[in-house]
Amino acid sequence: NSFIPYFLEPQQEDNISIDMIKLYQELLPKKESHDRRIKFVKLMDRLMNTEWPDHDIKAHVFGSSVNDLGTSSSDVDLCITTPWNGLRNVKTLAKLFRKSGMQHVVCVPRAKVPIVRLFDPELQLSCDINVNNTLALQNTKMIKAYVALDPRVRPLIMIIKHWTKQRLLNDAANGGTLSSYTWTCMIINFLQQRQPPVLPVLHHIENENKGEDYFFDNVEKLKGFGAANQESLGGLLFAFFRRFAVEFDYHTQVVSVRQGRYLLKTEKGWDTGRNKMSLCVEEPFNVSRNLGNSADIASVQGLRCEFQRFLEMLIAGEDLETICAPYRAM
Ligand code: ATP
Ligand code: MG
Repeated sequence: NSFIPYFLEPQQEDNISIDMIKLYQELLPKKESHDRRIKFVKLMDRLMNTEWPDHDIKAHVFGSSVNDLGTSSSDVDLCITTPWNGLRNVKTLAKLFRKSGMQHVVCVPRAKVPIVRLFDPELQLSCDINVNNTLALQNTKMIKAYVALDPRVRPLIMIIKHWTKQRLLNDAANGGTLSSYTWTCMIINFLQQRQPPVLPVLHHIENENKGEDYFFDNVEKLKGFGAANQESLGGLLFAFFRRFAVEFDYHTQVVSVRQGRYLLKTEKGWDTGRNKMSLCVEEPFNVSRNLGNSADIASVQGLRCEFQRFLEMLIAGEDLETICAPYRAM
């Protein structure tokens, strides 16, 4: 029954910060990756508008290709908007993409949001495509705004995302864990709750009954908001893992980016059914949705072990590369 003090020596914290900057540089996407994505979107746009002219079909990129949290290996998330009903069934899209030379074209028609998934062999890009799911365009803009507000946000999130992928904790659809988006909301909320805060609550600023879709997006006006908080990257990384390894109360609390604090499961009616045992993270624009419900009880236990492992390895002075080594089943 060993007692583990959950804090770092200043020297350790500095070392972690240096390690983080190094890993961050490696994770940043190259310009070449950006250019390939632009080519790809133009191609998709042209394919659809050649096949179905006169339907005002537009391809919008969302997710990590545009929110500054992507790496060269991130997929492309595309939202097709059109007033036409002909694309409601994603199989129609799939057919076009197959005959256009795309590979591994699969439909996931019964997902919460129906999508087509494919791989472009020429541009070497994987892509998820939905039709008219504009909520994702809006929440992507919100993520992008939070990332732009303080220089610590981007490296912190990119490094934690990297860890989630290496440790197989980033597969909401098949792995029963959490999506990048859910992880990102957890980190943003953590930064909103630092004392003093690193990030503001964009849903609260100048919001006089402006409706569900609203958030304050004038980033320029908020530049320097987090400057009163002097925590280092290493200090924040450590505090994030301490938060979810030992401080967060999984049984009662709900992460809320919209409110910038923890809500109670009881006040949301999330103290029953699947939500009762899950890690609860509120969708900022659709507060009845729990982004954490992709993870079942066993996955939440696994997650908590991984938070604990990370924390203990940091305290033991291991470097990030070792801590983020790919998961191997024993
Ligand atoms: P990655 O680099 O891992 O692909 P990402 O930032 O693209 O990360 P994803 O989890 O792939 O994150 O999600 C892409 C986008 O889809 C998010 O930015 C968000 O706009 C939207 N999204 C994902 N999951 C949900 C969800 N459960 N509810 C609403 N929107 C979601
Ligand atoms: Mg993505």
